[in-house]
Amino acid sequence: MIFYKLSNDLRDEIRHLRTLGKRIGFVPTMGALHQGHISLIQASALKCDVTVCSIFVNPAQFNNAEDLKHYPRTLSKDLELLAGFKNLLVYAPDEVSDVYKTDEDFAIDLGNIGLVMEAAYRPGHFNGVMNVVKRFFDLVTPDITFFGQKDFQQCLVVKMLIRHYGLPIQLEFCPITREQDGLAMSSRNEQLSSAERAIAPAIFKALLHAKEQVPVLSPHEIRKQVLNELQTYPDLLPEYFEIAETEYLHPVESWDDALNIVACITVRLGKVRLIDNIILK
Ligand code: AMP
Repeated sequence: MIFYKLSNDLRDEIRHLRTLGKRIGFVPTMGALHQGHISLIQASALKCDVTVCSIFVNPAQFNNAEDLKHYPRTLSKDLELLAGFKNLLVYAPDEVSDVYKTDEDFAIDLGNIGLVMEAAYRPGHFNGVMNVVKRFFDLVTPDITFFGQKDFQQCLVVKMLIRHYGLPIQLEFCPITREQDGLAMSSRNEQLSSAERAIAPAIFKALLHAKEQVPVLSPHEIRKQVLNELQTYPDLLPEYFEIAETEYLHPVESWDDALNIVACITVRLGKVRLIDNIILK
């Protein structure tokens, strides 16, 4: 593993790798790394000669100042975790200005994806995501970039971004890595109290329960059941539970409305916001 603080140094190395004809994979992260992040790096290592992993808590994608303030920052631990990886370049800038060299706005119109679920609950969030991801893509010029399906809507945003700018980048969605009890791994899980942590697996249980009911119950009935089920936990407040087609996230009313359908959920558990999803068909 080689660690870069400065984008100019990384850019020079990427140019060098290009002259050698190396295939470059890219995994963007906000650090506080866990096995979910590692699975993305491993997926990249299988397909690429060199992987670039960025560790950058991007202020532009936080719509809530408190959330940004409390977001875990564990760089030395992260670097320790990555130390043994071969052919891995880690870009962890000290300064936001190393990423945002100009104030150019790369955000695009996302249509329905820019209106629902995360976009509705976190205004401006995806504009921040698009701006940082486009800057990273221009810096790293990856052949393949790896994103976690855990952030399902984000995957669709990045897909639209790549298409809009005509970038020659292949996008891979990687499966969700879970704890043994089913909770989707997340940097935010560390912020849960032990009582909250004990409740958290109810989220994935509800998603599994939803999947079991397909196609016997309608999307509307499943939605009602899941929300009722989660109401039994007083500390767990669902922000949304939506059943939607997987391309533009339009809600579905029947299982015949689309070929592929996903259930997406976000809950608040105490001060922590947890996100998860499951492919229903
Ligand atoms: P983050 O550091 O939360 O911004 O996540 C960086 C990347 O890791 C994103 O593409 C996430 O979707 C992905 N990721 C986060 N948690 C998981 C997980 N449990 N399983 C798979 N990928 C994940």
